Amino acid sequence: MRRLIRSVYGANTVYGKQIEQLYRRANRQIKGEISAFIASKVNWSGKPSKDDLEDVRQQLIEANEDNVAPLVAVYLSSITLGHPNNGDLETARVALPMIKVAKQMHRVMARQEQRVPSEVGRISQEQHTITPELHQMPSNYNAMLQQSVSRTQAQQQSPASMINRDVQSTVTRIKELTKQASMTNEASIDWAKKVDRILTGTKSHGGASRKAQRIIRTESCRQLNGATISDFKARGVTKYRFLSLEAVNSCQECTDLDGNVYDVDDAQEGVNLPPMHPNCQCWIVEYEDE
Ligand SMILES: [Zn+2]
Repeated sequence: MRRLIRSVYGANTVYGKQIEQLYRRANRQIKGEISAFIASKVNWSGKPSKDDLEDVRQQLIEANEDNVAPLVAVYLSSITLGHPNNGDLETARVALPMIKVAKQMHRVMARQEQRVPSEVGRISQEQHTITPELHQMPSNYNAMLQQSVSRTQAQQQSPASMINRDVQSTVTRIKELTKQASMTNEASIDWAKKVDRILTGTKSHGGASRKAQRIIRTESCRQLNGATISDFKARGVTKYRFLSLEAVNSCQECTDLDGNVYDVDDAQEGVNLPPMHPNCQCWIVEYEDE
């Protein structure tokens, strides 16, 4: 269980590295895009050529996938409906690498959604074979766990929409910056540095990359604790203990709850069940009355 918790919350998580790399790559592509746009000296509100519009339209269609369809629709409609200007076209070009980022994020999330509950079930079954008297399981455990996990997931706001919304707001920030950079004297604002700040952040300021990691971490925390509660319910466990991470970066707000015992039936996310807040790294364990 410890290993699973570390892989969900740890500083050097696989998904953390993947996301950082994704954002660094998108950062380079977007800066290249903006640089070319500024160099071309086209007017932000001017009319783009039909060929350019068609080219970007094709790329958006190629980039389309179920998970990112709402995002693609935003940029597709802005270059196909009404009277698109160069700014709309440039925004769609900036959006392309970010759509790629969103696709990868959806993949990472899907993997966590699949992996975390199945790991919880596996660990529980393992424990059952070690101490069958202490760790009892109903014969239909797997079905019960699955049912309960999907019920919890259905009640939540979809992580997919969070990812898409996050990516869209990042593109909007870059769009504003590009507009400003193309309309003012390029040297007067250090736009490249500002793109870095938006995407990959600085030491003190996380940027979109850090925020993306926070989304995955918080969602994974939800998966972990939701699946654990499902495991408890399936096995007839009635009480659990709340545990907060004892580390320098542990959640301040959760330290007060550390060690407290609650009824499984009373479990409510954000009240007595992690995640209590974004980036929460707490978990729960079975509690037995002595
Ligand atoms: Zn916490």
